[in-house]
Amino acid sequence: MTATMPSAPLSRPSTLDLIGNTPLVLLEGPSEAAGCEIWGKCEFANPGASVKDRAALWIVRDAEEKGLLKPGGTIVEGTAGNTGIGLALVANALGYRTVIVMPETQSREKMDTLRALGAELVLVPAAPFSNPGHFVHTSRRLAEETEGAIWANQFDNIANRKSHIESTAPELWEQMNGRIDGFTCAAGTGGTIAGTGMGLKAFDENIVVALTDPHGAALYNYYAHGELKAEGNSVAEGIGQGRITANLEGAPIDTQFRVSDQEGLEWVRRLLSEEGLCLGLSSGINVAGAVALGRQLVAEGREDPRVVTILCDTGFRYLSSLYNPEWLEAKGLPVFPWLAR
Ligand code: PMP
Repeated sequence: MTATMPSAPLSRPSTLDLIGNTPLVLLEGPSEAAGCEIWGKCEFANPGASVKDRAALWIVRDAEEKGLLKPGGTIVEGTAGNTGIGLALVANALGYRTVIVMPETQSREKMDTLRALGAELVLVPAAPFSNPGHFVHTSRRLAEETEGAIWANQFDNIANRKSHIESTAPELWEQMNGRIDGFTCAAGTGGTIAGTGMGLKAFDENIVVALTDPHGAALYNYYAHGELKAEGNSVAEGIGQGRITANLEGAPIDTQFRVSDQEGLEWVRRLLSEEGLCLGLSSGINVAGAVALGRQLVAEGREDPRVVTILCDTGFRYLSSLYNPEWLEAKGLPVFPWLAR
């Protein structure tokens, strides 16, 4: 028998094709707690290890299509987190420079990560949003002053939510074989909840879209009582919004839940120790919301409802916080038993 050469792949995917098409897993503990199927979209499997790679790619492609970003141009954003990481990777793959403006109070870990990816960091003193020196305003000014630069503006640039209308929602619909009863997640910019919610409702308007809000955010009260009012606080990074961003405008939110850090952390602990998923706190909060939504749909008499949520980023990003006993103790949060000294 003669060996044959494996045939050459027909398509030649680039690294940017690795963004999206993330796996979906059935979460056993949460499904048992809810009394129905709870599924998690593994956004930590994106190249930048978070859900924000999608928004980063769509924002950059949108700016290219509008002729705002030209070869060799610069992408400027005010962010300390996952969006900066996504933008830096997309920019490297397409030959752009990235400038990230962040408050100097951010963790060393985040600065090191962004520098490691090749982003240029501009550190500014921490300031309230009303102060022109706030990192978001600084990033906008810097973009305006820099030749050939765009301001990514993730909060109010709706290319962000478009990424979820065009990729996350159709992926979920296909992965769930066209049967989804509920979808929920928390909001930072609001791109994920609004875009995925809009995209899913276009497939089936009976899908219940629920906002899961951390404490300290104003959206729960807005959707429940029409008033933007924050109560309490949260250590969760990347979520918790105090205003209706352009991405949130017209978001099809049917119902809302409020989840504490303790409840979210309990799911982070259980998903790691029982199911082998190492996640950040926003994922734990989303899962708590999904369990609440699942219970509600069961109570309303929906037959075997299926709920989907987002596993936003990897826990490896929080080794100095969520997975550090001193940090947890200082915040008055429970330490995972295997970390307790
Ligand atoms: N979780 C984490 C860890 C994030 O970084 C973000 C992005 N801010 C979100 C959730 C929320 O996503 P969105 O901005 O689409 O609302």
